[in-house]
Amino acid sequence: MGAQKKERTGKIISNRPLDRNENFWAMKIAAPESGFLPGQFFMIAVSEHSLRRAFAPSEFDGDGFAFIYGVVGEGTQTLSRLTADTPVSVIAPLGNGYDLSALTPDAAVILIGGGTGAPSLMPLAAALRRRQIKTHSLLGARDATRLLAAEELRAASDVLTVVTDDGSAGERGNVLTALNRIAAAAAIFACGPRPMLQAVSVWAAAKKIPCQVSLEERMACGFGACMGCAVAVNVNGEKKYRRVCADGPVFNGAEIAWE
Ligand SMILES: Cc1cc2nc3c(=O)[nH]c(=O)nc-3n(C[C@H](O)[C@H](O)[C@H](O)COP(=O)(O)OP(=O)(O)OC[C@H]3O[C@@H](n4cnc5c(N)ncnc54)[C@H](O)[C@@H]3O)c2cc1C
Repeated sequence: MGAQKKERTGKIISNRPLDRNENFWAMKIAAPESGFLPGQFFMIAVSEHSLRRAFAPSEFDGDGFAFIYGVVGEGTQTLSRLTADTPVSVIAPLGNGYDLSALTPDAAVILIGGGTGAPSLMPLAAALRRRQIKTHSLLGARDATRLLAAEELRAASDVLTVVTDDGSAGERGNVLTALNRIAAAAAIFACGPRPMLQAVSVWAAAKKIPCQVSLEERMACGFGACMGCAVAVNVNGEKKYRRVCADGPVFNGAEIAWE
């Protein structure tokens, strides 16, 4: 699925709200040759006059790609107003993606998704299934109305556990509640809010389970030209800075200087 990074103009196929309050939307853009590796992302121009915004695709079917987004500010509000047939400029694919090279076909891994980070796990689950790797997906959200891609991930995973803060879907708790019941795994892959990624990374380090996390930091250029998305990491006891867009967005959770 890998492809050369380039700027292209796609056309919106559909853009529809997923909930009554229109907090979450699913967009599909016709952009052939927009293949990507699980964990890579796309920079999308939401208008001619603003910085591009980063989104991780949830699907690619040869004609185009889909992604799910939350309306949080001006850029995503503008995006939610775009209608079918509108042309949009896309730079893709960007970033490193998850590293699956250490996994053997009999491995069992855990995927963890929080909020708008969950849909981007769908291509990862599909890639793992193609390699006959067993997946247990844990999805966390504040409440049932904020739970995304649960049915899709149920179909793409061997086991799915849903947790919500208020118990309105799945069990009450957070992903750590569910993670604490799992004794072993060959690896953890997680995407979601930073506090969740931090808690999962600390848990995984204590259990000596390799843990890759995909950071959704704010970013400006998207391809390493500025340091707008720098994140601190510990390398051999030394603090260094890495660019989420060019060196990530996927990092070894144990290396990130979380505090
Ligand atoms: C690699 C990557 C993949 C992403 N994939 C998705 C995705 O698939 N779906 C999705 O909904 N979002 C995704 N995001 C986040 C998305 O890029 C931001 O939500 C979007 O840029 C916000 O734009 P805005 O103009 O609407 O908000 P702004 O006006 O820029 O911000 C509104 C509010 O959200 C906060 N905010 C903005 N961006 C971020 C961020 N990246 N992290 C935390 N807080 C932020 C701001 O501090 C502010 O409080 C991804 C980000 C990255 C880096």
